[in-house]
Amino acid sequence: MLSSMMHQQLTIGSLIEHAGRYHGETAVVSVETNGEMSHSNWRTVYDNSRRLASALFKLGLKSGDRAATIAWNNRRHLEIYFGVASSGLVCHTINPRLFPEQIVYIINHAEDQVLFVDRTFLPIVEKLRDQLNSLKAVVLMGPRDDEASKVIDGLLFYDELLDSGDAEFDWPEIDENQPSSLCYTSGTTGNPKGVLYTHRSTVLHTMGGNQPDGLALSASDTVMPVVPMFHANAWGVPYIAAAVGCKLVLPGPGLDGPSLVKLIDGESVTLALGVPTIWQGLLIALDAAGSKAESLKRTVVGGSALPPSMIPIFRDRYGVDLVHAWGMTETSPLGTLNQLLQKHQVLDAQQQAILRLGQGRPPFGVELRLVDDDGGPVPQDGQAQGNLQIRGHWIVDTYFHAGETALTDDGWFDTGDVATLDPDGYMIIHDRSKDIIKSGGEWISTVELENIAISHPDVANAAVCAARHEKWDERPILIVVKAGGKDLSEGDLLAHFDGKIARWQLPDKVIFVDELPIGGTGKVLKNRLREQFGDILVS
Ligand code: ADP
Repeated sequence: MLSSMMHQQLTIGSLIEHAGRYHGETAVVSVETNGEMSHSNWRTVYDNSRRLASALFKLGLKSGDRAATIAWNNRRHLEIYFGVASSGLVCHTINPRLFPEQIVYIINHAEDQVLFVDRTFLPIVEKLRDQLNSLKAVVLMGPRDDEASKVIDGLLFYDELLDSGDAEFDWPEIDENQPSSLCYTSGTTGNPKGVLYTHRSTVLHTMGGNQPDGLALSASDTVMPVVPMFHANAWGVPYIAAAVGCKLVLPGPGLDGPSLVKLIDGESVTLALGVPTIWQGLLIALDAAGSKAESLKRTVVGGSALPPSMIPIFRDRYGVDLVHAWGMTETSPLGTLNQLLQKHQVLDAQQQAILRLGQGRPPFGVELRLVDDDGGPVPQDGQAQGNLQIRGHWIVDTYFHAGETALTDDGWFDTGDVATLDPDGYMIIHDRSKDIIKSGGEWISTVELENIAISHPDVANAAVCAARHEKWDERPILIVVKAGGKDLSEGDLLAHFDGKIARWQLPDKVIFVDELPIGGTGKVLKNRLREQFGDILVS
């Protein structure tokens, strides 16, 4: 039968074309790697992405080849996002905080042909260059720089590359199932694994993730992704911003609280997105600067569990609505966002705040379920914990070059998280399955214990992990960084748990440390803690 409606490929090129054509004058502000502010707009991003694409073809790249970035959130990175993907190449974003051997592994595994690098990260590339065999070119993201030329043989310069390109370049025809971008999970255990997004999955994530109960960006917003563009596509914000044509503020290297306060106030940011530790820094800086963050309406927080105290502080002091979200590299990343239902509108502020602490519910386009360790169903009653599985339009099927699917026999992806789901689909993450503590057949959530510990005023940071135990198999131990200059004892801290959890869940031991081991995506490396302290309870 003839199709009665037009059929167009869902492509990333169409997103930037829309932004260039209908929102050309809308500002794209960015902090350069040298700290200077740069003022661009969607028209220029569109033109430069076409210049870049044509220049890359002149360098000899072919459809499907990978071009990688090690870069901050800035305008050149944005142009690379669109220029590379829209021309049928694959934009591979690399997390500079990974261990050097992991960076070598993923560049070689991805067989990257070109590497774009910010000045900050040039020393990393200098050290590793000899081991990166697939690279045809390294491009410094800036103007010609003779000092840098001495460091890397044949170094190219982004601004010169653009000058050699053609702003009238037309995107080639692209099938929506072609790959567009590539991102590796940080791989706290084993080698990192690549998730190869397609044009289609990215455009559907853009549309599905930006519904009114999702990120809800509109053309009247000024959005600042503090979440890095090398971490799960900055949660899709660059694509969503292009689709709606909002003003975009890219914070560059300054992710500290004072720099963010300056940008929020200076650029009238309405929505900012990032991990909880970023907002902790922001709150301190707002206080110190005496800023009320007048323009800021919403922040979206995800990537690790939201400390419960944060929602009321943002709401009551700054009038900012804090939206909790969950996702992973494998899910593009938006999996759930926490917005209330119509029936919740009658609840009082306190009851609503409790509901909003969880990770939220899935938007149209993804589905969640819980299973037990044998794959059997777990009730969706808000009480029973199970292994969280997901499926949908923007969820991984097969890791890059893995050969076999990552899905269950019936087509679901196991997230590695342990969660509850209520009948409305509200999800609460209790732990990662490899972190949860199995004490005498009962499960203890490390996240829950950490939240209680962190709510103690003398605690700067805390992590709970399993230690081997002769009788109970595993028991929780609490590893704590004290707040500056505070005198805190094990007994004081454990007393703080009184009445908040069952007695048998109380950590068996408190260990004070100067700092916690943090991995490439800013999360505590619990496997390291287990290696270091896992035998502390056995004789
Ligand atoms: P990595 O696996 O390298 O940490 P990801 O960013 O893909 O990188 O991490 C995804 C994981 O982060 C999820 O499986 C989940 O455990 C955790 N996570 C993400 N968002 C939240 C959240 N809002 N609350 C609790 N955990 C979260």
